[in-house]
Amino acid sequence: MNSTCLLNADLHCHSIVSDGTLSPEDLAARASANGVELWALTDHDEIGGIARARAAAHAAGMAFLSGVEVSVTFAGETVHIVGLGFDENDPGLRRGLESTRGGREGRAREMAAELARVGIHGAFEGALKYVGNPDLISRTHFARYIVEVGACGDTAEVFRKYLADGKPGFVPHRWASLGDAVAWITRAGGVAVIAHPARYAFTANEEYALFSEFKAHGGTAVEVVTGSHTAAEYVKYAQTAREFGLAASRGSDFHSPDESHTDLGQLPYLPGELTPVWELLADRIR
Ligand code: AMP
Ligand code: MN
Ligand code: MN
Ligand code: MN
Repeated sequence: MNSTCLLNADLHCHSIVSDGTLSPEDLAARASANGVELWALTDHDEIGGIARARAAAHAAGMAFLSGVEVSVTFAGETVHIVGLGFDENDPGLRRGLESTRGGREGRAREMAAELARVGIHGAFEGALKYVGNPDLISRTHFARYIVEVGACGDTAEVFRKYLADGKPGFVPHRWASLGDAVAWITRAGGVAVIAHPARYAFTANEEYALFSEFKAHGGTAVEVVTGSHTAAEYVKYAQTAREFGLAASRGSDFHSPDESHTDLGQLPYLPGELTPVWELLADRIR
């Protein structure tokens, strides 16, 4: 039993700087009220909220790690790689994230055109009303607009009917490569983590390739306990972490009080036989 697994760490969540609905300050207050001891803000492809999050974490007495969730294309699927504990002033990381954000507006305009064909009009302008950061228009913002116009009852239904791969509003997009994302994070002094591995529609062979290539590029951790996994998936990916010699991370993936079923700091602890990712990051907490 590794007793450092018994830490209320929440190392995955989103603010209005990407597709969450709360400010970094409100997230910090909510994490602290829920008993989080070590926190990271991991906005999609964007680190603009980190300074505010860190200041609010310190004011609330929480330990803090820098964080980001990078969008990657691997074997034709979108995969998310979380980075933790990097230097957010690193020029290579900043350039890489900027290039990853770059294609979002064009993609959003194409999505709006596709949605108009199936009767959802004005979706680009509609989604923009929900956007906190104009560089980061995402499918989540479209989902909020589609709920607003009454075409679906909630955002989960919007993804099922309109925004998932193969649905009418889905526009294929090429994100960063796995090797680039891991290199940006590790060269900036951080640790790269495979986010919510159970969410990807991979065959066993493709998943094996993801983990092998991730390790070969210098990735060292995987999310085991996340709001995106079932209890059975905690067990499965604890086993995968051991098999590949990866440390384990824990995070709610909280986006919004109205949309997220897992609140900040409310997950089970990491299984005790794992190496928690925060053991690799002790000197990066600040
Ligand atoms: P994007 O980066 O624009 O492709 O948007 C991806 C985001 O959409 C994810 O980070 C989630 O917040 C959200 N998302 C993806 N799939 C679903 C789903 N099935 N239900 C609700 N939200 C989803
Ligand atoms: Mn998201
Ligand atoms: Mn994700
Ligand atoms: Mn996320």
